[in-house]
Amino acid sequence: SYQVHIIGGGMAGSEAAWQLARRGVRVRLSEMRGGGDSTPAHQGNGLAELVCSNSFRSDDDEKNAVGLLHHEMRRCDSLIMAAAERARVPAGSALAVDRDVFSSAVEEALASLPTLEVVRERVDSIPSEGQVIVATGPLTAPSLAASIGSATGADSLAFFDAIAPIVHHDSIDMDKCWKASRWDKGEADYINCPMNRDEYVAFRQGLLDGDKTEFREWEANTPYFEGCMPIEVMASRGEDTLRFGPMKPVGLDNPRTGRWPYAVVQLRQDNKLGTLWNMVGFQTKLKHAEQVRLFRTIPGLEQAEFARLGGLHRNTFINSPVVLDRQLRLRRDDRIRFAGQITGCEGYVESAAIGMLAGLMTAAQFAGKDWTPPPRTTALGALLAHVTGDAEAETYQPMNVNFGLFPPVDSSVKKKVRKEAYTARGKADLTDWLPSLA
Ligand code: FAD
Repeated sequence: SYQVHIIGGGMAGSEAAWQLARRGVRVRLSEMRGGGDSTPAHQGNGLAELVCSNSFRSDDDEKNAVGLLHHEMRRCDSLIMAAAERARVPAGSALAVDRDVFSSAVEEALASLPTLEVVRERVDSIPSEGQVIVATGPLTAPSLAASIGSATGADSLAFFDAIAPIVHHDSIDMDKCWKASRWDKGEADYINCPMNRDEYVAFRQGLLDGDKTEFREWEANTPYFEGCMPIEVMASRGEDTLRFGPMKPVGLDNPRTGRWPYAVVQLRQDNKLGTLWNMVGFQTKLKHAEQVRLFRTIPGLEQAEFARLGGLHRNTFINSPVVLDRQLRLRRDDRIRFAGQITGCEGYVESAAIGMLAGLMTAAQFAGKDWTPPPRTTALGALLAHVTGDAEAETYQPMNVNFGLFPPVDSSVKKKVRKEAYTARGKADLTDWLPSLA
């Protein structure tokens, strides 16, 4: 028998299970993949599968809010961060991973915990007894989503996200492309495909004219995931929008000409072996055949073989500021916690962070201890506060961690060093808080 039932073995559910079971709490972790079900975005059955980019974004814990979140999670013995470290691939100052190595590392660590049982099963309604953590993510199975809807009493929202294509490395023509990071900073981590003006104009036109998957009725008028806008939508914003976005050429000297090209398509390593590379920023709802045709007009990708093509998917999240209390518990039934992206945070790291907090809160409860929330000045505290009440409920939308969620630092701090002031304050306050977890 178990004390906590966690539903969903993704980023949040895996981290929550780790934090609970390593403290001796008996956990059942139910994951529907591997039990005959899947989601529109997952490819396999591994726990904590990354469905899109292989990046955990910036690992800079001095100037970047998500970098600070990495730092804080590491100090809380986060499983997701430890597995990411083991699976790390080169990506400049970002933390990127081999997705298969990462998922295996998560599975292995969880398998080593004697009080944890992973069950491959789909759960169709929120259990009516006992402690529950719902961590079923943006692609929650419809049956459970209906049950969540009746438990929260609020409508779930659906909106878009997008997947960028992945190319086999040996199909890239390196006589036309070259490896470099922008401004030659750090290692030469990106493969750059150069375009001249005519090529760029024709390519942009191809994006605009290309055959696209039509929106379904229920998908209409839903806002795009911030930072994950389909490339063709960006192209439609203006002639040069792409050249100031994912196709930005600045700081990329083409060794064959000694100059910056007119535009660039960048690919980033997607697995540890270096055999798969993803097209950075190229999430799209172009039809698959159209993607292959158009992307093969990119210099260097004429013979490209795609391991995966781009796509668009549904996301489900609840209006957390209204329906959850400060401990991620359903106001109407405090046995039930929510964790991960379904609470309206956004991204792998943020989802894992909220999973970690849900695990720690539940562990404190079983230990008979009062829960001390992480200080508002930490990334964990800022994100948690946003999700559980500080966000505007009326316009609640998924949010990445960012310094805008933190209480402002003193206005006398010079702009140039303000980010460092946020992170230094966060780290110091985290140090004061950590003993409360013991
Ligand atoms: P998930 O990681 O999705 O885990 C939920 C798990 O619950 C899944 O394993 C699922 O199979 C399982 N499940 C669902 N319903 C049931 C059920 N009824 N019973 C049992 N199990 C169930 N974030 C980024 O940082 N970078 C990106 O590039 C990025 N791209 C994305 C692309 C797409 C298409 C999507 C949908 C999301 C993307 N995100 C990205 C967001 C990212 O997926 C999530 O932030 C993160 O994976 C969410 O973690 P989670 O644990 O909340 O959900």
